[in-house]
Amino acid sequence: MKTNYHTHTTWCDGKDTPRKVIQAAVAKGFEAIGFSSHAMLPLEKAEWGMDADVLPRYAREVRRLADEFKDQILVLCGVEADYVPGRSNPDRATYAAVAPNYIIGSVHFVVAPDGALVPVDCSPEDLQAGIRDHFGGDAERYVRAYFAQVREMVTNYDFDVVGHLDLVRKFNVKNPSFDEKSDWYREEIGKTAAAVAKSGKIAEVNTGAIARGWLDDAYPSEEFRRMLREKGVKFILSSDAHTANGIDCAFDRFEKAEEYVDFRVSSSCLSSPV
Ligand SMILES: [Zn+2]
Ligand SMILES: [Zn+2]
Repeated sequence: MKTNYHTHTTWCDGKDTPRKVIQAAVAKGFEAIGFSSHAMLPLEKAEWGMDADVLPRYAREVRRLADEFKDQILVLCGVEADYVPGRSNPDRATYAAVAPNYIIGSVHFVVAPDGALVPVDCSPEDLQAGIRDHFGGDAERYVRAYFAQVREMVTNYDFDVVGHLDLVRKFNVKNPSFDEKSDWYREEIGKTAAAVAKSGKIAEVNTGAIARGWLDDAYPSEEFRRMLREKGVKFILSSDAHTANGIDCAFDRFEKAEEYVDFRVSSSCLSSPV
């Protein structure tokens, strides 16, 4: 069963149009493809995403394509919604106007104690500057703040899939700033796995860092996945593709890593209009 529900197109920071991505998915024998353009409703404007005016046009186009290709592949309209406390949240009510088939909730910005937003996955330089200027140079404090924000998100908001749970690892191989084997780090991922399990949300095994050359591994790490699995969390496989060709990036390596669920029956995704 080939599916991918985490993909980006020219509606946000992806390189290819939805049509091109659907054609690639059909050519690769996919059964379903879902679009998850970035959005930061209700208050924040995502420079690399859609605002409240663009979202309905995006949803209209995806639904038109879903109809056009319905005999070849199931096309779903989702969003990857940012959680920035007090500014944007991945809640079904927040996105009710476009009734997405599903919502992926992600943390890309950590709110520092002084209120600054530190970008998690923008560049190693931005991250280092953020830790230096807003976390007193203490990477542990930054990482703990990231996971606390993820736990807050999964606990308080109504969405379907938790995006790239340990995105903080993105630059940590090429530009190490903390030790993933340390007791405090394992405590953080353990607490986060428990929060995800309690929320009943689905976790994704996300191969996006491989396509972009940052990691030779998926999110979350093997140890994090084991903790999630032991607590009964369900997984789907996604590539966080930003190109049509990348929709199955490294799927051959990770398709047996977990027992994936059929997202179409394990979530509310088909209860909203396609
Ligand atoms: Zn993301
Ligand atoms: Zn994404």
